[in-house]
Order: sequence, then structure tokens, then C-alpha cells
Amino acid sequence: MNLPLSEAAYVGRLAPSPTGAQHVGNARTYLIAWLAARRADGRLLLRIEDIDSPRVKPGAAQQALDDLHWLGLDWDGTPIVQSQRLPLYEAALSLLREQELIYPCTCTRSDIAAAASAPHLEHEGPAYPGTCAHRRADDLSRLDRPFAWRFRVSDSPEFMDAYRGPVSIDLRQVGGDFVVWKSAGTPAYQLAVVVDDADSGVTEVIRGDDLLPSTPRQLLLYRALKRRPPRFVHVPLVVGEDGRRLAKRHGDTRLGTIRAAGVRPETLVGLLAWSCGWLRRPEPISPTDLIPLFDLRLIPTHPFVLRSELLQQIGYSPI
Ligand code: GLU
Repeated sequence: MNLPLSEAAYVGRLAPSPTGAQHVGNARTYLIAWLAARRADGRLLLRIEDIDSPRVKPGAAQQALDDLHWLGLDWDGTPIVQSQRLPLYEAALSLLREQELIYPCTCTRSDIAAAASAPHLEHEGPAYPGTCAHRRADDLSRLDRPFAWRFRVSDSPEFMDAYRGPVSIDLRQVGGDFVVWKSAGTPAYQLAVVVDDADSGVTEVIRGDDLLPSTPRQLLLYRALKRRPPRFVHVPLVVGEDGRRLAKRHGDTRLGTIRAAGVRPETLVGLLAWSCGWLRRPEPISPTDLIPLFDLRLIPTHPFVLRSELLQQIGYSPI
């Protein structure tokens, strides 16, 4: 089948969340996504995921753009800003409602924790116990508390990750019915990301593997909204010496601080390229010079441990 060029071309995206500063871990994922797009001669969009309003930090969106520019990563077109696209998400919510695929849920986080018995993944929280699942989508009249909209999980779509191979996650155990619209009146990540990726014609989603459990949920939403899903690539994260995902306890690994300490972007990019298996030694290189060396298959499948000596070797001491 010959696809029209607009559908066949590669469209990727970088999707920073301005809920905090971007760190070395974010930089590694962005570098991979940028190289994959540039190597494929594709388009790369930039989307600011700023709908998580209470957690959005003033200035963090601009800082993320500055950090990307500093690294030598660019994008095509003007950035897409989620907070300016509410009507689009509302339209998708209506489609889900009409199909009776979602229900209003008045449970609070502590209600869910109290009702849950099964063990759960650290970042996922307990599987939703189904307390409000008896409600129909138009059952709104007797609700006396703010409510979220929850998507009824019917099955757990398996998918082929272009880096990891086949992935199968049982959503009934991991999270259960999931929120698509928060009680605060804003779309949840799962819905916004699918609406945006579909609306922008994104064909390749490259992101950290902490988001693996989101993918079967997003596939359910693609199906419900009758949109074609992209190809997914989930790459290992950067972790600290304790094996946990990079955070404040590992010292300051924010790109802004590393830059202010006088580290050259090519030096950091070289370290990241070495961690991905594209260089034999961590030596300075620009993202553009890495394009011919890029190969997804060379990226080690285990997380990259950012030992403090590695940062010291590039002239930076995390405190
Ligand atoms: N905004 C998310 C993050 O910064 C990425 C979401 C995605 O790639 O789907 O972790």
C-alpha cells in the first residue's frame, strides 16, 4: 500500500514537562529522540506538557527550551503548548463519554489506597479497585464531590516496542481503570498525549521506559478515538549510584547548573553518546556529528548509572 507522503514521513517529538528543571536523564532521552528523527530525515516537534498546573514551575518551560538549544538540539515549527489546547481535549473527552467508555469517579487518592490490597509498582500506585465503575457516563446528578473521569479498561493491548521487542502489561494489575480527566477540571496526561500525538501526526514516540505502563493505556485511547497509533520506543533511564531514577538526592544534575559550571555542551553530549554505545570513549562531539553514528540497537538495555566520577571527568562536581 502506498501511503501519502504526509502519513509515511517520520514525525517525532520532544515533550518536556515544565514541572521541574531538565536534568541529565532528560537530556539523554532527548538526544536519542533528536538523533532518530534527524537520521530519518524526519520532522521533530516540540511540545510543552504544561497541563499539570499545580506542579508547573514558572519559567521552567523557557528553561527547557534554553537547555535544548544549549545541548545543540533543535525542532521544527513553533512549540505546541498543551495549556492552549483545552478545546481539543474536551472534544476527545466527549467522544469517550458518548461511547460510554468513561465514568465519573469521586474517589480520592486515600480512598483508593484504603480499598487496595494488592501490591503495586512504585510509581503506579495501587490498581483502581472499581468503586465507581458501576456509574454510567451520564450519572452526574447525585455526585456531591468533585469527580474525575476514568477510562474503563477492557483489555491490555500488547505492542511491539521498536527497541525492546514485544511488550505485554496487564493493566488490570497495573493501575486498573485510569483517569483521563482530573477532578481539578484538566485533562490527564494519558488523554492529552494521545490527542496531541494524533493531532500532530506523530509517527514515532521515543521516551523513557518509566512510561512503559502508559503505552497500553494510550493504545486503548487511540482505539477509542479511532486514530492510528505511532511506533513506540522506550529507552532505559539514567539512574543514580543507588539504582534509583535520577533525583535531587543524587546531587544537582540539572542542565542549567552544569552549563553554569562551565561544562561545554559537546562534552556532556559525548558522555551521553558513550553511554549509548556510539563512542568508545566519552569525548566531546556535537549532536550533528553524532547523526551518522546513531544506532538504537547499540543502546544498552540496562539503565545508565551516572556515577559521580563520570561527571567529575567532564569537569562537574554534583553537590
Ligand atoms: N512529558 C513527559 C515527561 O517529561 C513525556 C511524555 C511522553 O513522552 O509521552 O516525562
